Amino acid sequence: MKILTICMQCQVESGQPNLLTLALKRIPDDGMIEMTCEKGHRTFTIIQQMKFEILSDMAIKAIVDGYYRDAIASFIGALERLHEFFIEATCRKSGIEGAVYKAAWKTLANLSERQLGAFIAAHLIETGQVPKLLPQNQMKLRNDVIHKGKFPDRAETVGFGQAVLDCATPILRLLTSELYSSTVQQLVGESLGDRYRIARNTGFLPATYSMSTLLNLGHVAETVDLESAIAAYLKRPPLESAVGRRGEEA
Ligand SMILES: [Zn+2]
Repeated sequence: MKILTICMQCQVESGQPNLLTLALKRIPDDGMIEMTCEKGHRTFTIIQQMKFEILSDMAIKAIVDGYYRDAIASFIGALERLHEFFIEATCRKSGIEGAVYKAAWKTLANLSERQLGAFIAAHLIETGQVPKLLPQNQMKLRNDVIHKGKFPDRAETVGFGQAVLDCATPILRLLTSELYSSTVQQLVGESLGDRYRIARNTGFLPATYSMSTLLNLGHVAETVDLESAIAAYLKRPPLESAVGRRGEEA
């Protein structure tokens, strides 16, 4: 998945954006997009959104582009990373230091069943309720796609994505409630701060980039209808039109 980037140093020096530096860049795993303009300015565009937010957007883009297996994989990733973020936020809210949480997470990091167990327990303790989980038929579809190479059709993919959104929305609403909002802001701020330090330490000017994503800590609706979200996504102008072939990378 790609976003539009622009040289921030050119903008700082001239007071206006240098449109010649507009480029389409792929989002790397750490959410830090490296860029050097023709004047030799070195900048890092740092994505503000957490991984689950970016994955939710990758999922909807994959549906729009017709890559249904990819869409299901991204929806699964979005939900699992949202569970992880909820566990981290719950631990932090309870006064557990980041380093202690990270040491504990290492014991779960490669085992999704353990992560799901930790999420259910954290949710139960926090809310007194069992969280909404993917129904059995959607779990079967997930396993068939991931482990058996199934080619899902569009209807199956949208049904799966909607089931993920139905599970994710109540968690997002909780994370954006008064109970969690200061903890969530702290975690997002730390994630940005860590990457700002990396950029500065390597001599790059850091700049923050905020994406509008399907799941988003910035705005949470009561419910999200995936077909409506796909229709809205299709109305967005293609990013390629802003740069032509000049600023495209493979
Ligand atoms: Zn520049």
